[in-house]
Amino acid sequence: MTVEVSFLGGLGEIGRNCAAIEIKGKLALIDCGLMFPEEDMLGVDLVFPDWSWLLERAEDVECVILTHGHEDHVGSLAYFLNDLNVPVYGTELSVELARGRIEELGVDPDLRATETNEWIEHGPFKFMLVPVSHSIPQGAGVAFDTPEGLIVHSGDFKLDPTPIDSTPTDLPTFAHLGRRGVRLLLADSTNAERTGFVPSERSLAGPIERIVHTAPGRVIAACFASHVHRVQQIADAALDDGRTIAFLGRSMHRVTGVGSRLGVLDIPPDRIVDVEDLVGLPADRQMLITTGAQGEPFAALSLMASGSSKFVELNETDTVLISATPIPGNERAVSRVISKLHRTGARVYHGRNAHVHVSGHAAQEELKTFINVIRPDAYIPIHGEYRHLSANADLAEEMKVPLVFVLEDGDRVVLDGEDTFVERRAVPAGYVYLDGSGVGDTKRAVLRRRRHLADEGVVVITIGVNVDRCLIEYGPIMDSHGFMDEPDAVLAKAADAVRAAIQKMAEKGRKTDHSALQQTVRQAASTIIRSETSRRPVVLPLILET
Ligand SMILES: [Zn+2]
Ligand SMILES: [Zn+2]
Repeated sequence: MTVEVSFLGGLGEIGRNCAAIEIKGKLALIDCGLMFPEEDMLGVDLVFPDWSWLLERAEDVECVILTHGHEDHVGSLAYFLNDLNVPVYGTELSVELARGRIEELGVDPDLRATETNEWIEHGPFKFMLVPVSHSIPQGAGVAFDTPEGLIVHSGDFKLDPTPIDSTPTDLPTFAHLGRRGVRLLLADSTNAERTGFVPSERSLAGPIERIVHTAPGRVIAACFASHVHRVQQIADAALDDGRTIAFLGRSMHRVTGVGSRLGVLDIPPDRIVDVEDLVGLPADRQMLITTGAQGEPFAALSLMASGSSKFVELNETDTVLISATPIPGNERAVSRVISKLHRTGARVYHGRNAHVHVSGHAAQEELKTFINVIRPDAYIPIHGEYRHLSANADLAEEMKVPLVFVLEDGDRVVLDGEDTFVERRAVPAGYVYLDGSGVGDTKRAVLRRRRHLADEGVVVITIGVNVDRCLIEYGPIMDSHGFMDEPDAVLAKAADAVRAAIQKMAEKGRKTDHSALQQTVRQAASTIIRSETSRRPVVLPLILET
């Protein structure tokens, strides 16, 4: 009997992590994440895996298993359940963080908060969540006990031996699985290029405390809302310094609410106030914990940096602590925000000038330890761009793992008796876009058009034409946006060209119609604009028939 694992996303990009494991013709998904759009995906809000083939086999899909509550692992789950509502397993925090968006879509989910280190059986699947430490509490790896042997998925992990919740990666359990014999190990590649070990989350306590305790006035701290332990460390430093705390930002309110309810975040309720009340306190009693550490333009921190926050106007007595590093693609946005923050005169601390952030992903020595503890027969790097997957594969080869495969989105690994082999491009792996509220209805051609608009601008030509006589009744009126600095002379020439082209149509006495006119106008204007300026703006003819 074969067991197969197919990768829908996350192998070749950071984001939209999703894999499907198939046993006896039944399927279980491991994670269902999203990716934030790259800079050239204009207007796209989110990028999903392509699960269309799973919908065609809807009867066979048994459940979804979550490793942890980060958006790149649970972010598209709501949309998937909207298409196919199956039970979801995960630790309590993972499923509760996913719940909000699922219910927003009007789906009534079957969320099954799952204990770690207990075998769960669902259809032909027998699996166990194993605790791992990461940059969100209650992260887990997943072990599958299959007819073809044990398969272990690391989830996102690091080996931090002193995490804030005292629940380190459960190496003893992984070692126990390893001793039974692990057929296939899938492991996090994010930091596979990084030598050594990632420092413990706890190592930030001292530096954060010093920054907070020496701050002359307000402290504004930004971090990922889901990094509950970071929020805890910042809050602890603030409480210790006699400050009162307010949260700012929608996700910060949502996650700290869920975290407090589940007991993973511990802040005395009487030390938390609304931001409106916080700003009334003496400056050195204030701690504001906010979203926006990724430079998101409308997040609270960016608004403060550009002086458009309705709550906080920064000045030289303020201290800003950005306790995060930019995720790939956000570097420039974050850098701009940091510059603006400096311009306000505030003291600014971030990952580059202070020890205020550690990564949540295992570096090389941690990966090697993990591999050594499990000693799998076969190894597949997951969660990373190709360079990260490749670096991770090198480590496994160095450690003499018998079979090491570098797979990409859409590939599948098959365990079949003695054989372990790879099928390339076995399942669809294209990007599915969420654009506004529509999923999957934005095609690549549309994105190309948007890039063209962004690169070259648009010229709009409004012209009234008597179609029967092919006669210009008014216009052309030329208008442009984002095209060039002083477009008038060129646009006048283009208008002449349009007039001449329509005149020519009339002279030929050919029967004309709306679309022929549009094409003529577009062609005439584009040609002259290109020859005069070497630019190719989008030319948009608006033909008004009279
Ligand atoms: Zn991740
Ligand atoms: Zn993660």
